[in-house]
Amino acid sequence: MASDVPSRPMRFFVMKHVLWGDQDTEFSTVKANVGPAPHCPQCGDTIGTLSWQPPYRVELELYGKDFGDLVEGPGGDLLVTERFAEDFKAQGLTGLSGFHPVEVLRARRKRRGPKPGPPPRYLFVTPAYGHTALDMERSRLRISRPMKCSWCRYVGIDAIDGLALEAGTWKGEDVFRPRGLWGRIIVSARFMHFAERHAMSHMTLVPLEKYVWDPLGLYYPRPLQLEPPSRS
Ligand SMILES: [Zn+2]
Repeated sequence: MASDVPSRPMRFFVMKHVLWGDQDTEFSTVKANVGPAPHCPQCGDTIGTLSWQPPYRVELELYGKDFGDLVEGPGGDLLVTERFAEDFKAQGLTGLSGFHPVEVLRARRKRRGPKPGPPPRYLFVTPAYGHTALDMERSRLRISRPMKCSWCRYVGIDAIDGLALEAGTWKGEDVFRPRGLWGRIIVSARFMHFAERHAMSHMTLVPLEKYVWDPLGLYYPRPLQLEPPSRS
């Protein structure tokens, strides 16, 4: 539906997990079957991680107060609640596929508090991948390998100081992983407004051009090496 795409500049956001948000929830898969990882149609290199195959069984870990409506798991797999999925479709948002029901075998509270009620029903969803591409010139990246393939755009990113998408590659998806940066989920402004109505305080949306990821201090050297947040 490219004709629906407005010509004015679109705003996009990187979805980022916030530890200790009120709806901070994580999951681990239970004896998961895995299938092959996707491959780049142009160079054949692996993109992303092994695909999760049925049965979809998980253990939930509740770090916040309530179960979140969107939960990111190992390898970037994504769960959403049934009510999130229904609203997502009802609002006409696009970019998620799958919607496979997931069996929750166990839900454990990882922080002190009352025993959690029964978890909501979750569905396994996959964000779109394949159209929208990172603009490798306009994004500020420290890379460890020159780009060899214009489709998957793998460069080995060591640090990010602002991202940009290549004009004309976005086909209207509200949730997607960009070519060149499979590991990040990017959402539209429409999705941002949608997310405000859901239990997603454990996710923050950072404007694309302001997104910083600099674990080694390459852009912003740190005098002190801070300990990464620990949950143990
Ligand atoms: Zn490729």
